[in-house]
Amino acid sequence: MNEFDIIQQFFKRPAKPEWLAEGIGDDGAVIEPSHAQQVIVTDTLLEGRHFFAGTDACAIAHKALAVNLSDLAAMGAKPKWFTLSLTLPAVDERWLASFSEGLFALAEEHGICLIGGDTTRGPLAVSITAAGELPIGKSALLRSGAEVGGRLGIVGGLGLAAIAVAQREAGQQASAAASQALDFPQPQLAAGLRLHGIAAAACDVSDGLLADLGHIAQASSLAFDLDGEALAALATEQNSQAAKLLFAGGDDYALLFVTSAGTAMPEWAKDIGVAVPAREPNVIELNGGPSWLQAGFSEALSKPGFQHF
Ligand code: ADP
Ligand code: MG
Repeated sequence: MNEFDIIQQFFKRPAKPEWLAEGIGDDGAVIEPSHAQQVIVTDTLLEGRHFFAGTDACAIAHKALAVNLSDLAAMGAKPKWFTLSLTLPAVDERWLASFSEGLFALAEEHGICLIGGDTTRGPLAVSITAAGELPIGKSALLRSGAEVGGRLGIVGGLGLAAIAVAQREAGQQASAAASQALDFPQPQLAAGLRLHGIAAAACDVSDGLLADLGHIAQASSLAFDLDGEALAALATEQNSQAAKLLFAGGDDYALLFVTSAGTAMPEWAKDIGVAVPAREPNVIELNGGPSWLQAGFSEALSKPGFQHF
């Protein structure tokens, strides 16, 4: 099976949206323009760095697309198209069938169309570039928009994926819920779209709550007070050892946002704190909560979220 057979069998789909003039097959894809603003995101997953060797192909494909969709969600965009650069050590048809199944299951769920890509041989790597559109007349949700009087909200869980990583690194089998969170993260796209008119700033949590909240704090020049009681309530599956993972674990793909001043927190999100104007900016503090959470916060502060370099 050569690369053209791979593309034909596993990645080319008969259905073509009306805005796609040319899809997979030529030197490039051709798309009809639209009036909406477009958001473009890209993310690469490498074996051994972003996923454990031996992870199911279905999960690898799901996650490679999900992390991109999570970025689109955080910008308030509706997914439209993506490209896939796939580097494979060898052709394994069963692996490819499972990869294709995982990829298109998530793609169809969110109405995003694969319009092209690249297929090469080498160490396993999956790189996806995705585009989404903003609702007409709406602006992207930026990290820099948070303002005095805003409240901090979150949609999605925290810390579970990091528990699965810790368990697998220790040679144990991760619990079903933790494995699901790590291997099949659910991008918060519906919430991202609903945040227009509610949120002044947003960011997805990929590097850990403190690191990603730090991005909003820095971009918006604000300090934040986290609500320890609200966070403890979020930490349903946590124990005292894992509290640090709640703050610095990463791989959560929850959606973090700050409401516009005077806008109520929607009932489908959890309120976890306050944006504080009258303090030194870029400071994040934890107010209240149980002692195991306080300890996890202090520990996480000494080692902020994942960084490649
Ligand atoms: P070229 O080298 O001329 O750019 P390729 O031979 O790499 O084109 O690819 C042929 C067609 O298949 C192109 O339309 C390309 O976008 C598409 N393609 C290649 N690999 C993939 C992939 N993994 N997923 C989806 N489309 C792909
Ligand atoms: Mg070409």
